Amino acid sequence: MQFCECGGLLVPSSSGSVCRKCGKKSSSKVNIKITTKSEKEGMAVIEDNTPDLPTTTKECKKCGGKEAYYWLIQTRSADEPPTQFFKCVKCKHTWREYK
Ligand SMILES: [Zn+2]
Ligand SMILES: [Zn+2]
Repeated sequence: MQFCECGGLLVPSSSGSVCRKCGKKSSSKVNIKITTKSEKEGMAVIEDNTPDLPTTTKECKKCGGKEAYYWLIQTRSADEPPTQFFKCVKCKHTWREYK
């Protein structure tokens, strides 16, 4: 993690890095891994800029929202059923369900 002099977090940009707080650019590269620590569990975390995922009617256990993005990931061996992931449209809460 690198921080700007204003205390904002530096995030990678095309030309180096940029402060998330004040927008100041820096040429030093920062390295932020998009995939997370739970990668080994097969827990794919999609960041806030959710790609064009399909949505489905699914109740969020956290906020009670009725719509969630969903996607499937083959987590283990191919002969096991894939894991279904949901991400609440409202609060971004992400969870998974085994089929
Ligand atoms: Zn800054
Ligand atoms: Zn929610």
